[in-house]
Amino acid sequence: MIFTAGVFTLPAMSPAAVKPLAKRRSCPICGKPIAAAHRPFCSVRCADVDLSHWLGGRYRIASEEEPEMDDLAEALRAEHGLESD
Ligand SMILES: [Zn+2]
Repeated sequence: MIFTAGVFTLPAMSPAAVKPLAKRRSCPICGKPIAAAHRPFCSVRCADVDLSHWLGGRYRIASEEEPEMDDLAEALRAEHGLESD
């Protein structure tokens, strides 16, 4: 590290320049106030949303597979129907 802690504590630094950093207390997903139990999110739901973003929307794909499974089951049933016919 080249920079020292003193760089960040210069008295000449305008408080307005520091405020945006200190104000980062809202959920990055929905913008609601952060809950201490779910930092840096407001709820476990937003934490899950963020996680799904990181996983490339895996949760979404999983839920979209459900109707496909139904189609598959129906196709198998139809096949069975043809076999026993
Ligand atoms: Zn949120």
